[in-house]
Parts: sequence; structure tokens; C-alpha cells
Amino acid sequence: MDTRRFFLEQKDMPIRWYNVQADLPEPLPPMLHPMTKEPLTPPDLAPLFPMELIMQEVSQERYIDIPEAIQEIYATWRPTVLHRAYNLEKALDTPAKIFYKYEGTSQAGSHKPNTAVAQAYYNKKEGIKRLTTETGAGQWGSSLAFGCTLFDLELKVYMVKVSYNQKPYRRLMMETWGATCVPSPSPDTKAGRDMLAQDPDCPGSLGLAISEAVEDCMMRDDTHYSLGSVVSHVLLHQTVIGQEAMKQMEMAGYYPDIIVGCVGGGSNFAGMFLPFVKDKLEGNKPDLRIINVEPESCPTLTKGLYAYDYGDVAGMAPIAKMFTLGHTFMPPPVHAGGLRYHGMAPLVCHLHKLGYVEAVAVPQIATFEAGVQFARTEGIISAPETNHAIRVTIDEALKCKETGESKVILLAHSGHGHFDMAAYEQYLSGKLVDYAYPEEKVKEALATLPQIPGQ
Ligand SMILES: *Cc1c(COP(=O)(O)O)cnc(C)c1O
Repeated sequence: MDTRRFFLEQKDMPIRWYNVQADLPEPLPPMLHPMTKEPLTPPDLAPLFPMELIMQEVSQERYIDIPEAIQEIYATWRPTVLHRAYNLEKALDTPAKIFYKYEGTSQAGSHKPNTAVAQAYYNKKEGIKRLTTETGAGQWGSSLAFGCTLFDLELKVYMVKVSYNQKPYRRLMMETWGATCVPSPSPDTKAGRDMLAQDPDCPGSLGLAISEAVEDCMMRDDTHYSLGSVVSHVLLHQTVIGQEAMKQMEMAGYYPDIIVGCVGGGSNFAGMFLPFVKDKLEGNKPDLRIINVEPESCPTLTKGLYAYDYGDVAGMAPIAKMFTLGHTFMPPPVHAGGLRYHGMAPLVCHLHKLGYVEAVAVPQIATFEAGVQFARTEGIISAPETNHAIRVTIDEALKCKETGESKVILLAHSGHGHFDMAAYEQYLSGKLVDYAYPEEKVKEALATLPQIPGQ
């Protein structure tokens, strides 16, 4: 019988995170202060994050040790398994070899606890009592609630309103783990009240929820803010995925030709591809293709501008050089709530700009079609976000069928969709819709980019 799953043992778990900043051909453009527009310094970030995370954000060290207390918690679900998708290959009648690394077996059901646990640890170590954060689909809020309960921290989560209404079970997971969760825009902050006054039916967005969580954090000394994606220290923590996958692909006897993943802020996929992109940066794997998949309705990498922009709607968060649709852009309410963000991780954008990774945008209905095909072959019911990556994995495998090439495709499978069955119901009953690329709204939002000298 062919090997279908590739296991690592606890002793094979990575003991260091990989920091790609040590290997970049050009340094990452610095983040800027939202008021002064000068490069951010570590003290600027101290009201938001613990110093150890701030130092990780700008570190140029190639490897950063994973503290033992974090390793001990990682070991409750890591290493995650690498699967060979024989059933999907057979159904597609493709000569391609499809592998997927499944992050859905964490306690919260996605890759997000990889950083949630680390962030809770460093905040606790610095004496912080309470964290605030935003969440889209609720994956991040629930993951951080899991991390906070393990380290006995209070947590307040601002959840994008459209998801709060679509996904009550994610909120209940947060509450079960002891966190407080409110819909954003909320009346609890000025940013939320201003938006509600402007548009009482505002569906919310990740950018706005960030504004609320940051504002809340700034009002209290015992509180820090936590981000589930985008920033470099989050991508760093996620590199356990790619380091494990490398060993597992070796066990399988293959090196990938194509790596595919979905990108909202870019963390799960960067966690997978960064250890592989190192090979490319060193000139060893020039033909390796790394494909970032995003929704057609929020096409940051494929249609955005590479420019300095705010991380949030209110213009309170740091300014970063990234592909952006404009910080005031409100994406249509697609079910992949985790992919509704106007910007993208600066590290992913930098690598895209330098030509090391590519990007493609896909429409919503086609992603569910792929997700259902995956469920009916491999069995796993995937998150709507992950379905984007599955769509492109299948498309690439079908191209192999046409050309007769047996390429090796590695899919970063970011999580299960057990709390997204309402979205599947819409798809199965033919009620799911596609949203065209909202060109006019993007044009309007791009007119509000901050004025940066030299940009
Ligand atoms: C949050 C989430 C994403 C998108 O976030 P990234 O930072 O781009 O990884 C993708 N898939 C799942 C399952 C998620 O929960």
C-alpha cells in the first residue's frame, strides 16, 4: 500500500523559527509611524506589543529559538500531518502528485494557534494582564482565546459584524475559552461609534476592527494588542509549518514544483513557503513556483498598488509598504472572512515585488466547487479560505493532465470548515453569489493613501 500520510514525531518538531529577513536580497522597507510618518522605532510599538515580539519584528537573525514553554504547548497538536491526496488525484485523473499539510487539527481548527500561543506567552512574560484583538471569520479570535486561557490572560475580541452574525459558534468558542467578543463596529470605541453614526448597517471589515482593538489597547496600561496575521513576527511563528513540511516532503521523496496557499494577511501560506523560498533566494530552486491565492472580490496582490498605507481604516495603526486596495476599502461580504483585508503582509509583498512568489485571484463559487470536490475525495470539509487554495491546486493538477506532466504540488491546508456550514448550505442550495472586482470602490479607497515623501 502506498504511504498516504507522513508523520513526524514530537522530537522532530522545529525548535527554532526561520526568519527570512536574514536572507532577503534587499531589506524590507521600514514601517512608518502613523502620525509622524518617520520610520517606526521599537519604543513606538511598546504600547502595543511586548518587547520580545517587537525585537522579533525587526530581527535580522536567521533563526530564533522557540522557548520551551511554547514547544510544550505546540506538542499538544504538532507536528501536523502531511497527506498525499491520492483520491483527489484519481478523481481528477491527473499525473500530478498532490500533497497537503493539514493545520486543521489544532485545538482551534486552523494554523492560527501557532502564533496565538507564542504571543500569549511573551505578553504574560512581560506582566501584561489583558489583550485586545480583531477577528474576521472568528478563527483568530478563537485561536487567541485558546492561547490566552493557557496563560491566564483576559481577552477582548472585536469581531467583524458580518461574520459575528454568520458564525455564532466561533463567538461561543471564544466565550468557552473565557474571552469577551463584541461585533465591530461596536459602540465601545470612538472608531466604532464614528462608523455607526455614518452607516448603522456597516458590515464591518478587518481594518475597522483593528482600529477598535488598537484604540481599546491604548486606553489601558495593563493591556496589549495582538495581531493574527500581516506583521513579520506572526509570519515568523508560522514557519513551523514549512519546516515540518520540508522534512515530510523529504520522507515522501519529493521536492515540490508548485506550492499553493490562500492569503488574507499572508501568515499561513508564508509559514509554509518561507522555509522553501530560502532555497529559491539561495539560487537552488529557481523553478519552484509559489502561488498566493486571493478572492477576486478582494484582490490585494493581483490588483492592488504597492505603496505605503495604513494597516487599519482609522489610520491609527502603523503604515507599511504593501500591496493595498486602500485602507478605507470595504470588501464585499464573502464567506472567506479571513481573506477580507485591504493589505497584505509586507514580507509577502516584498517577495512578490522581487519576483519570488506569484499571485492569482479566484471567484467565490469556484472555490466552493473545489472545496466540495475535496470533501468528496479527501473527506476534509475545508474552511472557505482554504477552498481558494484548493481551487488553484485543482486547476494546476488539471493543467498537468493536459500537458502530461507529473508535477509535485504542495497545498498549504490552513483549516477545517466545521463552523462554516451555513456557507456550504448556500453553495449547495445554489444561493451563493460571486462578487465582481469592485473597481470603483478600490479607486476611491486608493485616493486616500497617506502622503509619504518620495512615494
Ligand atoms: C485566518 C485564516 C486564513 C487567512 O489568514 P492568513 O494570515 O492569510 O493565513 C486562511 N485560512 C484559515 C483557515 C484562516 O483561519
